[in-house]
Amino acid sequence: MSTEITGREAEGIKWDFVAIGSGTAGADAAIRAAQLGLKVLLIERDRSRLGGTCVNVGCVPTKKLLYLADHYHELGRFLINEGLIASTKLDVKAMFEAKDRLISQVISWYTFKVLPSYGVRQLIGEARLVSPRSIKVGDSIIEARNVLIATGSRPKIPPIKGMEQGLRSGFAVTSDDFFYLRSIPDSVLIIGGGAIGIELGTLLSKLGSRVTIVEVMDRLLPTFPDPELGNYLASRIMMEMYGVNVKVGTSVTEVDPSNKMVRLSSGETVKVDAVLIATGREPNTQGLNLEGVGVEVRNGAVMVDDHSRTNIPGIYAAGDVTGKYMLASVAKVQGIAAAENAAGLDSRVDYSLVPMVVFSDPEIASVGISVGKDDPRYVIAKMPNYINYRAIAYNKPYGWTKIVVDRAGGKIVGFHMIGPWASEIVNMATIAIKKGLTLDEAKELVFSHPVFSELLIDTMELVSGGNVYLPKR
Ligand SMILES: Cc1cc2nc3c(=O)[nH]c(=O)nc-3n(C[C@H](O)[C@H](O)[C@H](O)COP(=O)(O)OP(=O)(O)OC[C@H]3O[C@@H](n4cnc5c(N)ncnc54)[C@H](O)[C@@H]3O)c2cc1C
Repeated sequence: MSTEITGREAEGIKWDFVAIGSGTAGADAAIRAAQLGLKVLLIERDRSRLGGTCVNVGCVPTKKLLYLADHYHELGRFLINEGLIASTKLDVKAMFEAKDRLISQVISWYTFKVLPSYGVRQLIGEARLVSPRSIKVGDSIIEARNVLIATGSRPKIPPIKGMEQGLRSGFAVTSDDFFYLRSIPDSVLIIGGGAIGIELGTLLSKLGSRVTIVEVMDRLLPTFPDPELGNYLASRIMMEMYGVNVKVGTSVTEVDPSNKMVRLSSGETVKVDAVLIATGREPNTQGLNLEGVGVEVRNGAVMVDDHSRTNIPGIYAAGDVTGKYMLASVAKVQGIAAAENAAGLDSRVDYSLVPMVVFSDPEIASVGISVGKDDPRYVIAKMPNYINYRAIAYNKPYGWTKIVVDRAGGKIVGFHMIGPWASEIVNMATIAIKKGLTLDEAKELVFSHPVFSELLIDTMELVSGGNVYLPKR
C-alpha cells in the first residue's frame, strides 16, 4: 500500500525531515532519516517521475536497453558468422516495453514496499520554500525541522541555431525523450561525447543506426582524468568496432529540421534522421525560491559542504542539484549524509575517490589519480587485457588496464581501465586505494581464476616485477 497523503493532511503534521524530490538523493535520504527515527515526508512534483532520473530516464533504462542490445548484437556477430542461424530481427517496441516493465517494477518496489515499511509519507505536488522551515505545495503550507533540496537536473539544451524548431518537430531529442521512442532512426547525430552520448551511441549502433558523435573538446570523455581512455575509445572502439563516425574538436552550428540536416563548425553538413542532445545536465533550482530564503546558489547549483549542508541551518541539498558529479552513486551518499546530519550524527561525503564509469562495450572506468608518464613521484603500469584468460575465452580481449602507484609508499593511487567488467573492477580498485593497498600486500592476495578482476592484481604485479603473463622486457 502506498503512503501517499494530501497537502491538507501534511499541513497538520510537524515533520522532522522533508525531502523535495523523489529521485536517488531524496528517496535514499528519506529512508535513512526514517531509519533514524525521524518523521519523514517525501514530495515529488511529477507522478510520472516518481523515482527520479536514475529510475525513469537514466541508469536503469540505459542499462536494461544496453543489456538487451548486447545480446542482440552478440547473436548477430557470432551465431550468424558461425553459420548457426540465418538472421536475427529485433522488435524494438517490445524491447522498450521490457524496459518500461522494469521501471514499473522498481518504482512499485519503493512506493509500495520500501518507503511504506519505514513509514515515509509521500506527497505529489510542486514544492516551493516560503521560509527555511516552511514549504508551500499547492495551497498547503508544510512545516519541517529540516528540509532537503533534492530536485535533480534536466538536460542542458545548447544554444544552437534551429535547435528550438528541431525540438518542436521531434527531429532533435534530449536523452530524456530518447526513452519514449518506439523506433530506432536509421541515422543519428549525437551532440556530446560524454558518458551519456557514448552509452546511447553504443546502444543505437548495436541496434543498427548509423551514428555520428560530435564533441567540441579535443577528445571523447573530456571529464575523465586519463586522456588515453577517450582517445582509445574513439579510435579503437567506437570507430573500428562499431563504425561510428567520431568528430572531436568540432561543434554543431545549425540544426535544420526541414532538410534533416546538421551543419558543423568545420563547414561540413551531415544528413541524418535524428539529432540526440547529450551535452550534459543542469540543476533544477528554478521556482524553489532559494534566493528568497537565502540559500547560496552558484552557477545554477546549490552550494553544499561535505556534510550536505547549505549555508542556511536546517536546509540540506543532495544529488544533481548540487552540481557535483551528477551521478546516482554520489546522490545516494550525499542524501544519506544529509539525513544522518539532520538526525544529529556527524556524517561526511568523501569526494576524493569517486569512481567514474561509462557502460560502453567494452566498459570504461576510472578512479583516483591520473598522471603523465614523466611525473617522478609515480610509477604507471599498463597491461593489455588480452593476457587475461577469461577475456580470451569470452572473446573480449579488448582494451587495457592501467594503474598508478606512488613511488615512495608503493601504494596504488589510481586505476583506469577500458575492458570487460571495468564498471565492477573499479570498485575493488576504490577499496584498494582507500585502504592504501601496497604492491607487497597485493602479491599476497589469491584471486579466483580465470576472472576479469585478476587484471587489477596482475597490473600491480607488473610494477613489482612479478607479472608472469608478459614476455620479459
Ligand atoms: C541517460 C543517463 C544515464 C545515467 N546513468 C548513470 C549511471 O549509470 N550511473 C550513475 O551513477 N548515474 C547515472 N546517471 C545520473 C543519475 O541518473 C543522476 O545523477 C541521479 O538520478 C540524480 O538523482 P537526484 O536525486 O539528484 O535527482 P533526480 O533523480 O533527477 O530527482 C529529482 C526529482 O525532483 C523532482 N522535483 C524537481 N523539482 C521539484 C519541486 N519543486 N517539487 C517537487 N519535486 C521536484 C523531479 O521531478 C525529480 O523526480 C545517468 C543519467 C542519465 C541522464
